[in-house]
Amino acid sequence: MRRLLQKTLLGLALSAAALCGAYAQVIDLSASKVVDLSHPYDANTIYWPTEPTGFELKQEHKGVTKGGFFYYSNAFCSPEHGGTHIDAPMHFAENRWTNSEIPLDRLIRPAVIIDISRSAAKNPDYALTPADIAAWEEANGRIPDGAIVLLRTGWSARWPDRKAYLGDDTPGAVDHLHFPSFGVEAATTLIAERHVSLIGVDTASVDVGASKEFLVHRVIGAANVPGLENLTNLDQLPATGTIVMAMPMKIAQGSGAPARVIAFAPR
Ligand SMILES: [Zn+2]
Repeated sequence: MRRLLQKTLLGLALSAAALCGAYAQVIDLSASKVVDLSHPYDANTIYWPTEPTGFELKQEHKGVTKGGFFYYSNAFCSPEHGGTHIDAPMHFAENRWTNSEIPLDRLIRPAVIIDISRSAAKNPDYALTPADIAAWEEANGRIPDGAIVLLRTGWSARWPDRKAYLGDDTPGAVDHLHFPSFGVEAATTLIAERHVSLIGVDTASVDVGASKEFLVHRVIGAANVPGLENLTNLDQLPATGTIVMAMPMKIAQGSGAPARVIAFAPR
């Protein structure tokens, strides 16, 4: 009964959330494994090299109070863009959604995982191409309209080694970054022809490290599509059959925010 209720409630919730109506998918918690796609926030969290600060956790109290009971609390400080986080469309496109304006239903959707880790292992500047998407669809079927598309490069295995992950660990320097990600033509195809609701990658940017013009950021931002960066554990997800929930911290009017991203994958 409990299982049935869980199935029904989540099924209803997702059907309601799927405004585009192209799909309805039930999450059966008893048949799913929940995979954490977020890195922890700590002193090792990787930020863009131009960020002057990183994640800071300041202990406020830890111990027995005068009242005789235990009490623990910290204060934290963090730039919006670092660790596992969301880029709001307005990050690179004026007058598009800020962080708190992104509709929740865009962040809870069936997801597909495109694996370019073999190409990326040979070429750290590798950018996803329309041909990669065509090959993926040849093997797995058409990407459902409105889905979340996550790109697996294998780079999360390098976390939190800044030099290995970004290609260069010189503070403030962005001229020698090398890591794989989406290519602009592929991103355009995903937006214009598959109407994706969200894209994400297990590297530091939805543009490749060598990018100077951030065209993918600009193309997805203009289309009001958010991006997820610094994901992990994508190797634990099948190409299809997963539902992803990306829940950014609700920073009002933010350009992005730290995000807890989880996936319900078939067990
Ligand atoms: Zn970002």
